[in-house]
Amino acid sequence: MKNAKRLNIRIHGHGGDGVVTAAKILAWGVIEGEGKNAQMFPTFGPERSGAPVVCSVRICERPLPIPIENPDIIVVFKTALKDDGVFGGIGENSVVIVDSPEPAIKIAKALGRPIWSLDASGISKTELGKALPGIALFGALVKATGIVGRNSMFLAIRNNIPKKNLRGNLRAAHRGFEAVRTIGELSKPCVCLSTETPAKPAWNEIIPGAVQTDAGNSRNYKTGGWGISLPVIDLDKCKMCMICWAMCPENSFRVMGGKLVLDEEHCKGCGVCSEVCPKKFDAIKMEIKKEKQNES
Ligand code: SF4
Ligand code: SF4
Repeated sequence: MKNAKRLNIRIHGHGGDGVVTAAKILAWGVIEGEGKNAQMFPTFGPERSGAPVVCSVRICERPLPIPIENPDIIVVFKTALKDDGVFGGIGENSVVIVDSPEPAIKIAKALGRPIWSLDASGISKTELGKALPGIALFGALVKATGIVGRNSMFLAIRNNIPKKNLRGNLRAAHRGFEAVRTIGELSKPCVCLSTETPAKPAWNEIIPGAVQTDAGNSRNYKTGGWGISLPVIDLDKCKMCMICWAMCPENSFRVMGGKLVLDEEHCKGCGVCSEVCPKKFDAIKMEIKKEKQNES
């Protein structure tokens, strides 16, 4: 790892896990602790708790296009384990680190390769009082790759975490470092060396940002999984004024058979509809989804 000229790391999780914080601290540790170059790019849709987040961290001598397609190291938070394409683009020598309450034998078997695993969510619940596994995963990443030294790891945390949360996060990093284990036999202690220096992309090879490549694609983006609650419509009270339809940011209302119907695949539970439904009708109440009730 110490001789690597370029490293690509991809971290998967969901909003609220601490994905961006973990990536930021890693990049800080590389730059300030080790005196090397690093870049960190979070990629998300609308920035919201519970939405999928991918963070790319690049340790290199010159900029490269994002997002990282072929990571040398991949870190997957528990919340993202079931997401599509999370393990896409990993190579034979990529280091895979997953947050899993059980040793992630099934994942290692499915990938047909050794991986690193730890219960980072469990550690963070003990040390921080909630599931914020980013720092424990950062500790695991340091152990699995030696990408920064332990001193740089602690220094990076000290310089990026508010004082009131510092002790718990330092303990979480230490425990992540100690707890991470390999599943399967690793051929080398760290196998993610990448020594070639990438060619600088030509002007017409640079990936443009913030561009919609096709129209009408928001219907393909299923925002229904984001929220914890759903509006319940009282059809006896509803007077079909359609104010909720007009104000819904996800266009989640349909009229079928002369009645208002909710599109649960796109309703993100923001509650705007229940706020705008006229008080004299009072036809919409927000209710916690059944599966979320069970979670708490
Ligand atoms: S809660 Fe109401 S306003 Fe918000 S997305 Fe769902 S239907 Fe639309
Ligand atoms: S705002 Fe209320 S009354 Fe009007 S259509 Fe929506 S649910 Fe019905």
